[in-house]
Amino acid sequence: TRTHPLTNNPVKTPPEKESSLTFKESQEEESTLGIVVIGASGDLARNKIFPALFALFYEDHLPENFMIFGYARSTMTHDELRKSISKNLTCRIDKRENCNEKMDQFLKRCFYHSGQYSSEEHFLELDKILKEKEAGRCSNRLYYLAIPPSLFVDVVRCARRRASSLSGWTRVIVEKPFGRDLESSRELTRSLRQYLSEDEIFRIDHHLGEELFENLLALRFSNLVFEPLWSRDYIRNVQLIFSDDLGTEGQGRYFDNYGIIRDILQNHLIHLLALFAMETPVSLDAEDIRNEKVKVLRSIKPLSLQDVVVGQYKGCSEGNASYPAYTDDPTVSKNSLTPTFAAATLFINNARWDGVPFMMIAGKALQSKRAEIRVQFRHVPGNLYNRNSGTDLDKATNELVIRVQPDEAIYLKINNKVPGLGKRLDCSDLNLLFKTRYPSEGPDAYERLLLDATKGERRLFIRSDELDAAWAVFTPLMKKLELRKVQPELYPYGSEGPVGVHYLAAKHNIRCA
Ligand code: NDP
Repeated sequence: TRTHPLTNNPVKTPPEKESSLTFKESQEEESTLGIVVIGASGDLARNKIFPALFALFYEDHLPENFMIFGYARSTMTHDELRKSISKNLTCRIDKRENCNEKMDQFLKRCFYHSGQYSSEEHFLELDKILKEKEAGRCSNRLYYLAIPPSLFVDVVRCARRRASSLSGWTRVIVEKPFGRDLESSRELTRSLRQYLSEDEIFRIDHHLGEELFENLLALRFSNLVFEPLWSRDYIRNVQLIFSDDLGTEGQGRYFDNYGIIRDILQNHLIHLLALFAMETPVSLDAEDIRNEKVKVLRSIKPLSLQDVVVGQYKGCSEGNASYPAYTDDPTVSKNSLTPTFAAATLFINNARWDGVPFMMIAGKALQSKRAEIRVQFRHVPGNLYNRNSGTDLDKATNELVIRVQPDEAIYLKINNKVPGLGKRLDCSDLNLLFKTRYPSEGPDAYERLLLDATKGERRLFIRSDELDAAWAVFTPLMKKLELRKVQPELYPYGSEGPVGVHYLAAKHNIRCA
């Protein structure tokens, strides 16, 4: 028996775990979770979604009573589905000896149902099978739409009418792209909202599940040293960079319809910008964060063509190796004007950021794979060290880099004195390299997002007004580019990108990394 530390009187042992559960927790323990992967025969399902679900299962993040249903038109038995997904399941986070056992347990919970995407009858069949497995318990159902967007509305209609949960929640994860412009995106939302409430729609962009997003919030709001500097008073410019060393090989058909502005700037970098630049939210709750994001997105000034550079990669050869041009892809038109590279300088029209250029740079087939935010600070006023030697290093300003790829890191460039006699300065990095500090591998972006969706955590999913605001920034620009048939500047595969980006950076006094 335990005793009270002050009175020494015996203290009753707390009740057993079961009875200390809240009503909500005990309900969750008894409820079932049915995850339905629509488009289960596709690449995304096989390569990303099932492996992420397995990782969640392996780490005990899925509830006790869960089941996963693959749904697509292809005919497959349960075992064929299991065989096709088992190739991609790995125990990469933690190579415990029971990996095979865990895989077997997981695969036994995976089933397949073949059906058409617009057939209410087929969804009714799915509902019947789900109900058998749910065995009368409170059921929650999570649909993942891993299918082309043209099928979204049909599936949502059928799922809502014939196979949604009557006793628990129904949520639908919708994969990007969410439209091609402001109008089509609004139309998609309007169609989905005929069958789902906004709370039931989880718009996913897997980049938002990367560690960087959570880290940006932690960096800004849990450290005293950064937030006071987070404004036009101290920050000279911000660069948001997403470069890929691969071209669009194999994705040409999809890519040619969207281009880099829709695929990366509008979908991904704009959310990074919003998180970076938003005001302090009331709390870390999804709605509070998303409210602040929307405000800052709506404060972005219209983009002018003069502040944009578009490029497209061309073929080149190096030694024995030769690299294809974007238009060499047989699924891409020879005259395609689709940009595979874009740089755009955006300005936020509010008191905090007035006049600070935010430069987004994204491209395919570039020299390196890189995803990072670079924050360049202003010059030190009246800098004592500039007066004497005037070398470049003496003039270097501080720079904060938040990097996702390669090698996740946060580092701050500072000036320090070179040891020894004299006053010479050097520029060094205060470096937090994640793989050194945290050697174990982190979760994949899909794992985080799927877990959040099962928990109803919406922070990293895109709300309809956020989506509207993001499209509103880019739609007029894309219309101008398309209407005027602006020729993208050609750059060689594997190069730094179009030369024009250096002029754009120089115009805004941005030092390119
Ligand atoms: P797939 O093209 O492999 O499509 C998935 C499944 O949908 C197919 O197996 C097929 O299943 C069905 N399908 C495909 N085309 C049609 C069609 N025209 N009519 C009816 N059914 C069709 O796509 P992915 O799996 O690669 O991706 C799914 C969605 O997710 C896409 O919309 C894509 O844009 C998006 N996405 C994909 C990413 C990826 O990494 N692959 C990343 C981000 C987004 P069946 O014939 O058996 O019915």
